[in-house]
Amino acid sequence: MRKDWPVKSHTRHVPQGHRAHSTRLQSDLTQISFELVAECPDTGARAGLLHTPHGTIETPVFMPVGTQATVKGLSQRDLAEDLGVKILLANTYHLFLRPGHELIRKMGGLHRFMSWPHAILTDSGGFQVFSLSGLRKINDEGVIFRSHLNGDLHTFTPESTVDVQLAFGSDICMVLDECPEYPVTHEYARQSMHRTVRWAQQADRHHRLRMAESATRHALFPIVQGSMFPDLRAECARALLDLDTDGYAIGGLSVGEPRALSMEMVEATRPILPRHKPRYAMGVGMPLELPEYVARGVDMMDCVLPSRNARNGYLFTSQGRVIIKHARYKDDERPIDENCQCYTCRRYSRAYLRHLFLSGEILYASLATRHNVRRYLDIMCEIRHAIISFSFPEYLRCVRSAPSDAE
Ligand SMILES: [Zn+2]
Repeated sequence: MRKDWPVKSHTRHVPQGHRAHSTRLQSDLTQISFELVAECPDTGARAGLLHTPHGTIETPVFMPVGTQATVKGLSQRDLAEDLGVKILLANTYHLFLRPGHELIRKMGGLHRFMSWPHAILTDSGGFQVFSLSGLRKINDEGVIFRSHLNGDLHTFTPESTVDVQLAFGSDICMVLDECPEYPVTHEYARQSMHRTVRWAQQADRHHRLRMAESATRHALFPIVQGSMFPDLRAECARALLDLDTDGYAIGGLSVGEPRALSMEMVEATRPILPRHKPRYAMGVGMPLELPEYVARGVDMMDCVLPSRNARNGYLFTSQGRVIIKHARYKDDERPIDENCQCYTCRRYSRAYLRHLFLSGEILYASLATRHNVRRYLDIMCEIRHAIISFSFPEYLRCVRSAPSDAE
């Protein structure tokens, strides 16, 4: 008994005479489909529609992160009705450890468990195993790790992480990958990348078997790795092409490398990844970086920054950052951002938010997160509009000329 909320239909505004596409591809095996709506002739930035079993998502899209099946500080009503979020990310590692995938399956899947009507993407847990787990042992079969909660030993294999994500009922699942630290040697990165490709092949085979017997549809994206070596990134992307999956992710970014290097790694995969499939850059980025990734052909992104920074008092605005604890805001009657239409900006002053922050009030986290997530969604709307109206190169120039610490 899944509660399927109505999905708003989307109007396409593609100016006449401009290059526009409608290349929806669907077959019986397709779990999700991607429709290219417009493409920037100069940069290759794309606007599209991602069709999932839980609704259609306008791309490029930013996906708020709901680590523990919740975006900290926001209710599902805030997200769906107030902010218009159409897809959330949840973390397989955390939900596998607590409350456990079998419990979530028993409760009717993640959508029903957390009362979320729209699409859900789950990562494979690989990134958290490598970043959070104290003890881990990688071999060709998978990864053995200790829970950061109670020290229990667990194993993730390419097949088991598919099963865990299918128990959640995720619309988009990710393959288990190895996310190397930064920096590593070319040789380590090469071996690790080959393991990630083998795991992706195993996961894909397993997923196809599961889908053959499943009444519901769930996509599986493999992940391009290769550390910070463009040749390995390209080799990995080429190897994953053979799987012909519904989309492709680019992982191993935001692991401490300089930002220019992250961009270069995305750039290295661009000519290889298929144009008619969605591309997801995992774990990025700062507001000013979002259009940069889109300019490199990225359609989907996620990041904890808007919610985490909100809780830490760091607010993103169209005019630059606001660090709310600063004394200059103590009697500032203006909203966080005069150009923002979010509930927080319509109703509350910087002075009040500063007071809540300094008093450690719960309401602060909720109001601040609502604003920061809205800021990210607004940026994605601006980007999409710029692509569709063929003004993306100008938009990008404008973003690049903003002061580097503006956001
Ligand atoms: Zn706002």
